[in-house]
Amino acid sequence: MGLGSVRQTVLVTGAAGFIGSHLVDRLLAEGYEVVGLDNLMTGDLTNLDNVRREPHFHLEIGDVREPLPVYAEIIFNMACPASPVHYQADPYATVTTSALGAIRLVEHARRRRCRLVHASTSEVYGDPLMHPQREEYWGNVNCAGERACYDEGKRVAETILMDERRTQGADVRIVRIFNTYGPRMAFNDGRVVSNFLTQVLENKPITLYGDGQQTRSFCFVSDLVEGLFRAATVDEFDPPINLGNPSECTVADLAQVVMRVSGQKVDLIRQPLPADDPKKRCPDISKARKYLGFEPKVRLEDGIRRTYDDFQSRLARRQQPSPT
Ligand code: NAD
Ligand code: UDP
Repeated sequence: MGLGSVRQTVLVTGAAGFIGSHLVDRLLAEGYEVVGLDNLMTGDLTNLDNVRREPHFHLEIGDVREPLPVYAEIIFNMACPASPVHYQADPYATVTTSALGAIRLVEHARRRRCRLVHASTSEVYGDPLMHPQREEYWGNVNCAGERACYDEGKRVAETILMDERRTQGADVRIVRIFNTYGPRMAFNDGRVVSNFLTQVLENKPITLYGDGQQTRSFCFVSDLVEGLFRAATVDEFDPPINLGNPSECTVADLAQVVMRVSGQKVDLIRQPLPADDPKKRCPDISKARKYLGFEPKVRLEDGIRRTYDDFQSRLARRQQPSPT
């Protein structure tokens, strides 16, 4: 698509973040002109180290809540803190990034008629009463709880974008992303994969919140990026669509995988379950299979090994004395 005579321009908001930076890599490899936008709230410029000198990549430090700085044929809206620790640290920034970000996208799309791919989340299902979660399920979210700045922000963003699609015929593509992990996750994001990996690498006890029997379904980042890319390049599908790996495991099982991969045996300690923590989460990806031909390939143990290797080498670099 991008390798024709004129390269299409793609804007990635949240480009310095974990998923955004992997998406930038993929889009450049596919031959697009890529503009990244990020306010560095949770992102890290080192995530873009390998593309900073790339002539077809341009970085704008800026905020998705402001009018968008460039014209692009396709926009991926990835901007938003994603881990509970990050998004609860500044709930106002979280909810306004989702809601005002969606409004800015809509304003831009009205003027420019571009394609919008929006990163929504499994959190729109809250603590789900339907399992696995299908797109038709409306969710079970506590609108006044600690997770609401994220969940409700993402829900209202879906509302704004779906209305734009219905009333203006905008080319809106909403993907509901389930727990994704991989290299470049922030050490301090408090997510279960980053916590467990840093804990074994630092030979500290693994922290199990609650009884560890709550489930998640972990998708390796390259599989997720494949889904995002397909969502942007297929002719059409009816949004929203789930993207994730339907292989479900308990948090306690994940701790065992991490210990097996690292070859480290550490203690498990119990800590209180955070408020409104969903008990079960697993995507039904029938729709993504049908319309995107999406099928995650990376097994949990392999993905955790690749993430462990990345964490190990980044931690080693961080511990090296800086040159005087
Ligand atoms: P991340 O925190 O690593 O990346 C988010 C990026 O957005 C960061 O670089 C941050 O600086 C930037 N950002 C935040 N607010 C901004 C603003 N107002 N303007 C411009 N940039 C802003 O998170 P991630 O895990 O890469 O998640 C990316 C997207 O995917 C998010 O929208 C998130 O909600 C969604 N998502 C992620 C997961 C997951 O498991 N990682 C699951 C569901 C949905
Ligand atoms: N969790 C845990 N120990 C940790 C961090 C998280 O047991 O050190 C649990 C958390 O309570 C939740 C699950 O792991 O049930 C996934 O948490 P995460 O913050 O990664 O993502 P989310 O809750 O948004 O799915």
